[in-house]
Amino acid sequence: MAKAKKGAVELIALQCTECDRRNYTTKKNRRNTQGKLELKKYCSHDRKHTLHRETKVK
Ligand SMILES: [Zn+2]
Repeated sequence: MAKAKKGAVELIALQCTECDRRNYTTKKNRRNTQGKLELKKYCSHDRKHTLHRETKVK
């Protein structure tokens, strides 16, 4: 059984800023990443690359 280590790595979802869909989930290391994560990602709804912003998973 895999024990979830408490620490710097956090599971996050990436939400499209144009249609508010959550298209990706990823992990981020809080020690290396300050503030909210923002990435240009492909959105299959908009069918183009849009800005995706970090949101909480769940
Ligand atoms: Zn979108």
